[in-house]
Amino acid sequence: MRQTSVNSAELFERSKAVIPGGVNSPVRAYGSVGGTPVFFVSGEGAKVRDVSGKEYIDCVGSWGPLILGHRHPEVEDAVEAALRRGSTFGAPTEAEAELAELVCDRVPSVEIVRLTSSGTEACMSAVRLARGFTGRDCIIKFEGCYHGHGDSFLIKAGSGGLTFGVPSSPGVPAALAELTLNARFNDLNSVEALMSDRVAAVIVEPIGGNMGTVPPMPGFLEGLRELCDRNGALLILDEVMTGFRVAPGGAQELYSVRPDITTLGKVLGGGLPLAAFGGRREVFKQLAPDGPIYQAGTLSGNPLATAAGAATLRELGRLGVYDDLEAKAARLEEKTRAAIAATDLPLCYQRVGSMGTLFFNQGPIESLDSLADVNTDLYGKFFHSMLERGVYVAPSQYEAAFLSLAHTDADVDHIAESAAAALKECAVGG
Ligand code: PLP
Repeated sequence: MRQTSVNSAELFERSKAVIPGGVNSPVRAYGSVGGTPVFFVSGEGAKVRDVSGKEYIDCVGSWGPLILGHRHPEVEDAVEAALRRGSTFGAPTEAEAELAELVCDRVPSVEIVRLTSSGTEACMSAVRLARGFTGRDCIIKFEGCYHGHGDSFLIKAGSGGLTFGVPSSPGVPAALAELTLNARFNDLNSVEALMSDRVAAVIVEPIGGNMGTVPPMPGFLEGLRELCDRNGALLILDEVMTGFRVAPGGAQELYSVRPDITTLGKVLGGGLPLAAFGGRREVFKQLAPDGPIYQAGTLSGNPLATAAGAATLRELGRLGVYDDLEAKAARLEEKTRAAIAATDLPLCYQRVGSMGTLFFNQGPIESLDSLADVNTDLYGKFFHSMLERGVYVAPSQYEAAFLSLAHTDADVDHIAESAAAALKECAVGG
């Protein structure tokens, strides 16, 4: 089985010579789980195959987009047909209007929507729009939430009594960091303490997904809405991960909260590079070309991506789809909880719909600081043990696992049985 990594190891060496760290997004380098990244060559339904021909059940789904699984026939046909008509025009197409209509229809707070190519772009643009609309400079975000790699987001809380943030990456200007304020997820008091008439927007993942799966506590999102209203700030829900994933209308439907701006991505693009930011018409009147706030993109609304996105949303519009996902995810949760109960390890499982995380501490996880004592070394062991058993989970503890409509009950059972065996191994090895 170990020979899987031989070819991957060669490819990794080759890649490292010409690609920083050998990867085009850092988490892919296995930095937090150790070992050599597995190089994939193909996917089909819920399965992926590596360069050595080994097959895995895929619990990553390209970090969220593949809610229909790999190579869904409707998506594939739509993309192939679009490709035969031309890959890009840099001019408007009917497919963009169709996709925008689907989005506005599913997500009622989105009255109008601009397409981008990545979630990072969508979040950066949403913040610029909020700043331009309100005429204010500061934003409040939450420790542990991720909104892409824009400069304004790579900011951590300042130490001690500092309310303003400091860069979490070299290259981010300190002057810009001072405009990003960091609050604690699920803690309204921490937001209230930072709120002022300098705050343009509060941006939040409605369900934390980038510190593992962390649901909002009752009243948290409603409280943010109220604090924003009281202080003249906009509420931006970053639904890049949760949009079309946890409900047809995303987390805002699940928790009945209406943001001013929503960012979307992942599922929206059906596996191709596509994201969006949308919301109140009055706010978007200020966006170019209608208004003065600038935002653009050579490949925004690309025909292949819009075809994949529209085909995906049409499939998700079928009756019973979310019930089906919930049933699969509930089955996995039940079996995972049984596996947890069979070990002495401090573990905790948290889930919302088809996204969930097995945390290597006792939980419950309510914010980033609940993760201070998480056992990432043991997670690394678990990850490799799962890989050996033919299950691909995220190569980092701080991530959600995603189920798709392509996962069968047998796949779910194989994941759960593998997890039970891997946990036993972890418990013995310590
Ligand atoms: N927002 C959230 C909630 C995300 O999970 C991500 C990516 O994981 C982003 C924004 C950034 O999206 P992208 O990687 O497409 O730039």
